Amino acid sequence: MYDIVVVGAGTAGLTAALYALRAGKKVAVLEGNAFGGQIAFSPRVENFPTIKEISGSAFSDKLLDQVMFQGADVDMGEVLEIRRLPDKTFAAVTEYGETIAKSVILATGVKHRHLNIPAERRLQGKGVCYCAVCDGAFYKDKKMAVLGDGNSALQYALYLSNLAPEVHLLTLTDKLMGDIYLQQRIFANDKIIWHKNVNLVDMQGESELRAVVLEHEGKTEVLEVDALFIAIGQVPDNKRFANVATLDAQGYFASGEDCTTVTPGVFVAGDCRTKTIRQLTTAAGDGAVAAMGAVNWLDRQI
Ligand SMILES: Cc1cc2nc3c(=O)[nH]c(=O)nc-3n(C[C@H](O)[C@H](O)[C@H](O)COP(=O)(O)OP(=O)(O)OC[C@H]3O[C@@H](n4cnc5c(N)ncnc54)[C@H](O)[C@@H]3O)c2cc1C
Repeated sequence: MYDIVVVGAGTAGLTAALYALRAGKKVAVLEGNAFGGQIAFSPRVENFPTIKEISGSAFSDKLLDQVMFQGADVDMGEVLEIRRLPDKTFAAVTEYGETIAKSVILATGVKHRHLNIPAERRLQGKGVCYCAVCDGAFYKDKKMAVLGDGNSALQYALYLSNLAPEVHLLTLTDKLMGDIYLQQRIFANDKIIWHKNVNLVDMQGESELRAVVLEHEGKTEVLEVDALFIAIGQVPDNKRFANVATLDAQGYFASGEDCTTVTPGVFVAGDCRTKTIRQLTTAAGDGAVAAMGAVNWLDRQI
């Protein structure tokens, strides 16, 4: 029996575990995909206080190491549901079994948004990718494109420009939405070719991506590329937990800054909840708030 089971080992979940462990609680962390969460796949972090520059994977490794040092039981396993048990404890159910705890912190983050066109599904992993750090090296010296205008897209384009002779940055409008310092690096990089006001409507290639089809000012253009990195935002994936935490219209956990939910003993933290800024600092902040909320709640049950 754990005091707290944390679902998701991203920045929010691991920070929650750190705070709960340091408050003397017994904590299990379950991770369905990759320890460290989204940031583990980011090439560079420059905006976390006290760290001038660090790779996303090093950031995640340090945090995981810190949490393991404090004595967390960290395990792989995608949580399929949270079941409420008659004795008011909770079971986090994975395909491998159940982890029973007195309280729960859901820190499930977000997933990559898809374009949802048939060619995207057909060519996923065959040239269509969502993570530059994970898959960029497979396309070294080949022609690459990045779809998107935000921080992730700009970071991907910069990262891939170290691997490819040319990187085509495709944006729906004539504006980049990412941080100014990233924009400046994009403009200074002559390997990055910016295609403004383009709508990616289709992809060509049967077993491998060969080209993307773009609509531009009413005309259709075909741009030959070997790899397309899609970075058009993220979406939550929380429906399976709606029995314990209400979702907002977009599918995020409807919770305020106190990270509480409609179910006493269940807390939410990080990118998975309703909020305006989804960043490492806010995920870490939520982790601390949710953990202390859970700790106080547990202490009141005695
Ligand atoms: C390419 C990229 C670059 C970024 N760069 C920066 C940056 O420079 N600075 C910055 O501040 N922010 C950056 N961000 C944003 C930052 O990564 C996120 O805000 C932060 O990681 C959110 O942490 P989280 O713990 O809430 O969610 P996540 O990191 O998404 O972690 C959630 C974890 O929960 C797991 N999970 C989900 N569902 C389940 C389940 N059912 N069972 C078990 N596990 C589950 C997931 O696999 C994941 O590991 C970047 C994001 C990306 C994608």
